[in-house]
This record gives sequence, structure tokens and C-alpha cells, in this order.
Amino acid sequence: MKYASLNNTHKGQNPVSFQEALVKGLAEDKGLYFPTAIPQLDPEFTHNLPAYSKAEIAYRVIAPFIGEEIPEDTLRQIVSETLAFDIPLVHLNDTYSSLELFHGPTMAFKDVGARFMARCLGYFNREKKNRTVRVLVATSGDTGGAVANGFLNVPGVEVVILYPEGKVSDIQERQLTTLGANIKALRVKGDFDACQRMVKTAFLDEEIDHLNLTSANSINVARWLPQMFYYFLAVRQLQQEGNNKPALFSVPSGNFGNICAGIMSYRMGLPMKHFVAATNVNDTIPRYMATGNYAPKSTVPTIANAMDVSDPSNFIRIEALFRETPEQLRQHFSSYSFNDRETREAMKTLKDDFGYIADPHGAIGYLGAEKKLPEYKGYKAIFLETAHPAKFKDEVETTLGIRIDLPPQLQAVMHREKEYATIATYDELKDFLGAL
Ligand SMILES: *Cc1c(COP(=O)(O)O)cnc(C)c1O
Repeated sequence: MKYASLNNTHKGQNPVSFQEALVKGLAEDKGLYFPTAIPQLDPEFTHNLPAYSKAEIAYRVIAPFIGEEIPEDTLRQIVSETLAFDIPLVHLNDTYSSLELFHGPTMAFKDVGARFMARCLGYFNREKKNRTVRVLVATSGDTGGAVANGFLNVPGVEVVILYPEGKVSDIQERQLTTLGANIKALRVKGDFDACQRMVKTAFLDEEIDHLNLTSANSINVARWLPQMFYYFLAVRQLQQEGNNKPALFSVPSGNFGNICAGIMSYRMGLPMKHFVAATNVNDTIPRYMATGNYAPKSTVPTIANAMDVSDPSNFIRIEALFRETPEQLRQHFSSYSFNDRETREAMKTLKDDFGYIADPHGAIGYLGAEKKLPEYKGYKAIFLETAHPAKFKDEVETTLGIRIDLPPQLQAVMHREKEYATIATYDELKDFLGAL
């Protein structure tokens, strides 16, 4: 498979390989990479998923995007290691189900993308034994932990994570500062945007070209595409239970990468009915869908902070998926926003009516499903639960008046010593990188 930039400002620029798209992250013209073709899966396969193992499904879904670049047995190994935990679809009643994406090592859904990308990079790197690649990533919370965990002990890779001082939760900070080995954490005196600016400056800085910097940002194709696995495994479970009617999917969305992977699955032939992108009050896309006007405002902090994004990078990929049939975008995709008060109400409803404890992000997913369902009577509605409620312990405990225990994955990091360096300026970042 080849990947081309969606910016297309450099007309005639040649599409690149999967490896190059992975290592570069962004195209030279700063556009997002997008596959030059959408692979089509055999309906015999997509309508009979229970006949295949989870690892077989994941392999068949991702293989067309990689082609010959990774040998079959290695790629099979990579997907089975990526999916080394459950992704259960939990039915709340006959209509609503929660697709739980939080059973990975850092208990947020970004584990799958990070684990897949790390293993692919490890493979490509194996062929250049004495060349260390440095993964530089800015995080506002969950990405850092997932990347740190996914890349831990990958040979030939050093990871440097920048996070804003005082803006990530204690658990999140521990997840990215306590692993040691090839994972280094930098606490930045500034906000997330300051971290992101430093990372971008480093990528453009020719003086540090020799450090082989790469990004593990969510726009990387190697983090985006494996998220398709969730949707295939959810549909597999429905089929297993005798439900062959396509379902409505509601995805709590920030940068819109996860939902974009769902729509890619649909375009490849997975039977699905409709997609709802549910957002917090950072509502650029709901407003765009209503008015046709793309007008990001400044980002507002919410209790679903992993979705505090006002200019979602991946929306352009969603539009690209409907390039040939733009009228189908509205038919298959809607977007609604919900405020913190509505989110807390939904958390209470989920607990009172279904005995289900959701985190704020999952609760927004539920709200999106509830909003759209009247148009789809008789269909099942699946909302994605993207983080374990214990990752947002204080908010969940206060809203629901309960106590939740930390699961073992999170308990383990609470006892480890945080290790980080503190920086305030780009020059300090550069010195740090140079000394690695
Ligand atoms: C990253 C994240 C999201 C948003 O996912 P996108 O792919 O950026 O839309 C939602 N929930 C949680 C818990 C996250 O960490």
C-alpha cells in the first residue's frame, strides 16, 4: 500500500510506503497520510467473522495496508501481541452495549495503536542495527502512558515524552515517568500547546537531523489504522450472538482518529449502520455538520479532558473516506456535543438504570447513541467506552457517590518513583536530546 498526503500542495509528490509514512508521521507538505486505495474485503469474510479467530481477523484487516513490507509471520506476531487483552462488548439491555476498550496495560484505548506502532517500528529498525530512532511525543494525558508502555524495551528506540506540569493527573504522570529503561519523561513548564510547539520545532530543526526523530502522534497511520480492530471484533461478537443486523456506533471523539478507523472499517465492507461522533463542548464538528462552516474556537477544559480538542486533525480523513460520494457523509455520520452537566447526568443514568459505571468519555458516547437512536428504532446502539472509570477516579466518585478501587494495572504504578527532567524552553529540550 502507498500513502499520499491529503494536502496535495506539492502536486506530483510521490506516494510513500507504509514504513515511510510511519517514520515520517506527517507528509512533507504537513498533510496527513492517507492510503491511495481502500482495500475491499470479501463479504464471505465480513459476514462470517465468528468463523475466524480474533488474531486472524486483525491480520486480514491490516495486511492490505502493509503489503509486502512486513513478512506475514512477523505481522501475525505483531497483531497477536497488540491484542493481548480483551475487548468485550458488554450489553446493558437489548438496545445499548458498551464496547470496552480499556482492558489494555494503561487502561485507555490508545494502547492498541501504540502497541502496534511500536512493534512495526521495532521490526523496521531491526534491519538497521546501529541506528537509534528517537520517538518524540507531546501528551495531554493518555497518549504518553500508552506510548511509554507500547515502546518499552523496543530495541533501537528511545522515547522522549513531553507533558505539561500540573496539567496531567497523578496516575497519568506516574504512567509515563516510572517505567525507566528507554522511556524518558520531560515535565514542561507550560501547557500542552507549549509541549506540542517544542516537538514541532524539533522536527523542523536541521541541526538535530542526525538524532533520527520520529513522532508517535495519533495522526500516525500506524496508530490510526489498527483501531479498526475494535469495530471488527464488536461486529464479530454480535454475529456470534446471532445478531446480523448492522448496528449504530457512537464514538466519544477528540481528534476523531478512533471514529475515522470505524468508518474505514465500514468502507472496507464491515456491516455497520451509522456513526455518531459524540464530543464535549469543544464542538467544532457538530457545528460544522449543522452549518457547513468550519470554525474552531479556543479549547475549553472539560471533565472528558482527553477530548479537549478544537481542531480535530482526523476529520479531513473522514471527508476523504467519502470523497467519491460526499452525499453519503450525512447519511452515515452525525455529530453532537454535550456539556459537563449532561455528561454527569448520563453517568448517573448509566449507573441507576443499567448498573453500569462509565467514565466521562464513555458517558458522552452513550449520550450520542441516545440522541440518534430515535431515527434508528430497532437497531442496536454500541457506544465506545474509551477509558477505565478509575482513570478518572475523582470525577466518577464525586458524581456517583461511590468508591472505586484502582485495578492492578493502575495500582502497580502508584508505588513507583517518578523520574523526569524539568524544562522550560526549546533550547533545554535540544540539550536534553543531544545528551541522550
Ligand atoms: C484519546 C481519547 C479519546 C479521543 O479519541 P480520538 O481518536 O482522538 O477521537 C476519547 N477518550 C479517551 C479516554 C481518550 O484517551
